[in-house]
Amino acid sequence: MTTVLIIEDERELSNVLRAYLERAGYDVLVANRGDQGLALWESKHPDMVLLDLNLPGMDGIDIARKIRQTDDTPLIMTTARVEELDRLLGLEMGADDYIAKPFSPREVVARVKAVLRRAQKPRSEPAAVIRINDLEIDPQEFTVTQSSNALDLTPTEFSILATLAEHPGWVFSRLQLLEACQGVAYEGYERSIDAHIKNLRSKLDDDSKDPLYIETVFGKGYRFKKEAK
Ligand code: CA
Repeated sequence: MTTVLIIEDERELSNVLRAYLERAGYDVLVANRGDQGLALWESKHPDMVLLDLNLPGMDGIDIARKIRQTDDTPLIMTTARVEELDRLLGLEMGADDYIAKPFSPREVVARVKAVLRRAQKPRSEPAAVIRINDLEIDPQEFTVTQSSNALDLTPTEFSILATLAEHPGWVFSRLQLLEACQGVAYEGYERSIDAHIKNLRSKLDDDSKDPLYIETVFGKGYRFKKEAK
């Protein structure tokens, strides 16, 4: 059974989320303090974590960093205010998704499913290795090398890069990129793509002002730069 750990100090909210996630077939663990949440994560090894930003005991950001130090458990961060979402997006914590409150529990369940589906995707579908510029992207092994150096990308960053690089020159909207990596898209989450692109650029050492790889197409989205002929 798939286990989801909810770390959320608003008890009413954590109870509602627990009920919805249990109804969707998940095993649910709840912690109402940050330090207890991290302890639960360490002892129970849940399949994914739904993490609030502001928590007593230990901040959500510190918990996310702690988790990311040791593994890539799928992580969805929730925040109380849109201003916090901006702050979060700038922190590059490697979360797989971000959700601003207030949210509907139904949406949260859909996001949990999407993130888990992506993380647990069977790797049996044969897909060709993409070679472009100095990058080699292997969709079966989920590996990316840049001039033969392995890059450490999150599953979301990998999906975005593979989607863009498969069609150099094509412009993808944020919604299309969301769909490509999760199978489900909500307009409200489009800006999380910007955070993933920012992290990708930093890992590729790509300059957004003069990109070698990913170009911003203002008002439209992103595209992978065509190889110079
Ligand atoms: Ca809180």
